[in-house]
Amino acid sequence: MKAKHNGSYGRDKHKSNHHIVPTSRGGPSGNGSKIFWNKFPWRRTKHVAWHALFHNYLPSEAIWIIQKSWTRPDGTLNASILGVPLYEAWLEVFSVSSPEEAVSFIKAYFIPAETRFREGMKVSL
Ligand SMILES: [Zn+2]
Repeated sequence: MKAKHNGSYGRDKHKSNHHIVPTSRGGPSGNGSKIFWNKFPWRRTKHVAWHALFHNYLPSEAIWIIQKSWTRPDGTLNASILGVPLYEAWLEVFSVSSPEEAVSFIKAYFIPAETRFREGMKVSL
């Protein structure tokens, strides 16, 4: 997790940029406006909590683990699988315990960047 500052945040240590497609997975980094789509400005506490939960997963992989591993058949979050520290991280990131709402957040804010990244990979092949 590299939470770099960029100029737009000045010296606010509470803010950080999340790379939606992690740079370790080939996502673009840097300060150019061309890669704005891969950056998500985030409170540092939420950013750290996201990586505690999802490491360097792609957004689609995060959705997969939420749905396949952390959601009970009745659709509720299986917090006991997460354990207390990760459940606290979950609440920090998503504010709600509903897996469906968490997935909706990821789909709304992160999946478009992953899609754009995948399209760019196709073009460059
Ligand atoms: Zn990040």
